[in-house]
Amino acid sequence: MPRFEYAPAPESRTIVDIRPSYGLFVDGEFVDPVDGGTFKSVNPASEEVLAEVAEAGIRDVDRAVRAARAAYRRVWGPMPGRERAKYLFRIARIIAERSRELAVLESLDNGKPIRESRDVDIPLVAAHFFYYGGWADKLRHAGFGPDPRPVGVAGQVIPWNFPLLMLAWKVAPALACGNTVVLKPAETTPLSALWFADICQQADLPPGVVNIVTGAGATGAAVVNHPDVDKVAFTGSTEVGKQIAAAVAGTRKRVTLELGGKAANIVFDDAPIDQAVEGIVNGIFFNQGHVCCAGSRLLVQESVYDELLASLKRRMATLRVGDPLDKNTDIGAINSGAQLERIRALSEIGAAEGARPWSPPCELPERGFWFAPTIFTGVTQAHRIAREEIFGPVLSVLTFRTPAEAVAKANNTPYGLSAGVWTEKGSRILSVADQLRAGVVWANTFNKFDPASPFGGYKESGYGREGGRHGLEAYLAT
Ligand code: NDP
Repeated sequence: MPRFEYAPAPESRTIVDIRPSYGLFVDGEFVDPVDGGTFKSVNPASEEVLAEVAEAGIRDVDRAVRAARAAYRRVWGPMPGRERAKYLFRIARIIAERSRELAVLESLDNGKPIRESRDVDIPLVAAHFFYYGGWADKLRHAGFGPDPRPVGVAGQVIPWNFPLLMLAWKVAPALACGNTVVLKPAETTPLSALWFADICQQADLPPGVVNIVTGAGATGAAVVNHPDVDKVAFTGSTEVGKQIAAAVAGTRKRVTLELGGKAANIVFDDAPIDQAVEGIVNGIFFNQGHVCCAGSRLLVQESVYDELLASLKRRMATLRVGDPLDKNTDIGAINSGAQLERIRALSEIGAAEGARPWSPPCELPERGFWFAPTIFTGVTQAHRIAREEIFGPVLSVLTFRTPAEAVAKANNTPYGLSAGVWTEKGSRILSVADQLRAGVVWANTFNKFDPASPFGGYKESGYGREGGRHGLEAYLAT
């Protein structure tokens, strides 16, 4: 095989101009927090402080909810759908125009490779606004009754793994349906939401329609618990999701929860091995494995186990870990020191419980938060690494003999967000997919997203659907 010399191809950081500090975005303006605090957003690849960001307290959240309520009553709720659509299309176009800047920003703040922020996250963000812009004037044809109405003010709390994409998943359908929003981005990745606020200004979106309150968990709780919020949308851990479900129980608030996962990626012995290996790698190492629907449990039919494992190891040895802004990078930085600790702790537990870890030789940068791509073999269903969400580049490999055993093992989890099936046989895809308790089942592919497809879970992966026509329902009083 020819050997290629590696030459770094870094994207320019100067494309994005980050100010030293940022306020909250309330009623169309950047404002200082009333409650006063600030926190720092850090580049996880270098531990450099990128900016100081305002921390919203209860009074700030209240101000944002009041702005959202006023905008809902006066402007956005009564506005005809065809007019709202124009704003969504305008936002979508600005995102597309500023995509390079947004991709660099997202990679700096989150640690994900520029190849992913440039080719996956940001194009999907624009696509979501285009898609839901298209629905804004057609809601009465969406199957939710002749005259579906908006719900009111949506309180939305999002995680750090796809910061701008999760914002788009939440904000685009809410606005299309005539709701206004108060959104809290994750503490470690607030910057792209603040850029989105700037885009709202650029698009002349009426003040108060979108409000961004940065902060930590307490700010999220203040949004969820605010009495004048009509609908809560949350993506994050199952643990916090349960707290939110308990907090809104007994109130009139609607809620959708998109929580954790422990997806099975099932490879049958007739699957094309090289193609399956690409899918396995994409399933678990995409975005450092910080993906709720990551294929973190590989189930391989015993007869192809040796061949598949050898091929997977060969492929893993070619993965480049390092500078997220380098266009050659496959695996970037772990999002935070706290997340790195969690990944390390669960991996150590895996080894202590008897599973065997393997990583290709790879040099990790000295500064920043890094974890080498890792697979564990000899994993049984009782192991914690087979049951708990690691949310990192760590794959647990299990085996099976029959399709029935594959299905039983795949479903043996408290989660039910996604799954993958690899086989040449179409009938087997249909039969296995039918038996899997997972919201999304990919066949001979993995981690494919489209604004037109609904996404969501069963069991402890949450409830409600986002994306597609289904994603409108949570934001409409039908
Ligand atoms: P969290 O669930 O804590 O964070 C998700 C969002 O909720 C963040 O914006 C967070 O704020 C906010 N939040 C935290 N506590 C509350 C609360 N009581 N009420 C309202 N909002 C709150 O995830 P973590 O970042 O702590 O990650 C922990 C683990 O969760 C990960 O290791 C991973 O396993 C899993 N996870 C799963 C995700 C998924 O998509 N399925 C996404 C993220 C994490 P803040 O950022 O300030 O904490």
